[in-house]
Amino acid sequence: MNVLVVNSGSSSLKFQLIATDLERIEQQQDDRICRGEIEGIGGQAIVRIQARSQPAQTFTASLADVAPALQYLIRYLTSDRSGVSEIRSAADVHAVGHRVVHGGELFEQSALIDDQVLKGIEDCIDLAPLHNPNNIKGILAARELFGQAVPQVAVFDTAFHHSLPEQSYLYALPYHLYRRHRIRRYGFHGTSHRYVAFRYRALRGLTREQTHIITLHLGNGCSAAALRAGSSVDTSMGMTPLEGLVMGTRSGDLDPAIVNVIARKEGLSPSEVDALLNTQSGLLGISGLTNDMRELQAELKEHDDRRVRLAIDIFCHRARKYIGAFLASMGGADAVIFTGGIGENSPDIRARICSGMEWAGLLLDAAKNRGTVGREGKISDDHSTLLAYAIPTDEELLIARDTVRVILGEPHPS
Ligand code: ADP
Repeated sequence: MNVLVVNSGSSSLKFQLIATDLERIEQQQDDRICRGEIEGIGGQAIVRIQARSQPAQTFTASLADVAPALQYLIRYLTSDRSGVSEIRSAADVHAVGHRVVHGGELFEQSALIDDQVLKGIEDCIDLAPLHNPNNIKGILAARELFGQAVPQVAVFDTAFHHSLPEQSYLYALPYHLYRRHRIRRYGFHGTSHRYVAFRYRALRGLTREQTHIITLHLGNGCSAAALRAGSSVDTSMGMTPLEGLVMGTRSGDLDPAIVNVIARKEGLSPSEVDALLNTQSGLLGISGLTNDMRELQAELKEHDDRRVRLAIDIFCHRARKYIGAFLASMGGADAVIFTGGIGENSPDIRARICSGMEWAGLLLDAAKNRGTVGREGKISDDHSTLLAYAIPTDEELLIARDTVRVILGEPHPS
């Protein structure tokens, strides 16, 4: 089955085309046909496509919206110059899997999209006003292009965290706010936490029930999750992705009273403060330089800039604090898993986060840590009782696999 995986954002569309079926999932033989991204939708867009065994291609095209962007993509893939022999016409796309950010309390697992599911995703717009409308646009564009007969599946960022117990997901606010407005922790990056947990099990030959781990997704967005017996029992992101760890441009945890203080002192509206916390804070806000960890590390090495060092220190301190908190809240763990652009690629940040964690039995092997970049592997010392792994995430693969399983009515692990 050729599955087109779509992540439709405000002005971008990330995609992968993956050929897979139940047998290939079982044997881990999924075949990645191509991947890419269209940026700047709404104007002169940049299209980047990397087809298997072909050099990466970059084009510019005037693409007014998601629907023409998707049409452009399929036109290119079906043309001879793409080198993608599997797709001769739109009919060769057999299914579409969509990343959907917020499933609220409605969706506990991936769902075959029909009008009722679409309505459910619309009902969650209130919870993710910046994300769900774009995801819906992607779904409608795919429906228009491929027709109703091509099944589409929604894979939710929040679904994996449906297992959070009340004590983890409820805020200490008047309870009626939860009843009236569903104000609670939902958690995000669920597909990533779930994927690395699956890989960790495979690497160690464990069952789901034997999986007691803390997963740290450290990318532009960052979140931690506590997994007990394979299920998420706590997570750092909250009702929105703003809570928790320090991120590229998001503040993470904050005294909620500060919101009013900033509004008053800076003369900002609530939505302006919201934007400040989401887009001008985190690594960018502290360093005053960039949200990009690689650039910060280069800057630190070259100039030893005080605010850059501070940004990295605060980032690592917060992550370490969450490891400690989750160890306590989940009653101990067997391993800490690093993933996301930073978690997968930066031995230095991993070492900084783990430094001083010997009390918890966590000790990195310096050589293994240094040697494990962009690939999966154990990075803890053999004497470490709390193991550490780096595992590259692969949300697209999990979305493609869920799409196949949902369409075929196979039970899929949450
Ligand atoms: P997103 O959350 O948008 O998917 P990624 O998971 O790709 O983002 O993570 C992006 C972050 O990963 C950036 O801060 C980037 O600098 C960082 N990163 C990527 N490679 C490295 C590296 N080799 N060393 C340090 N940081 C890295």
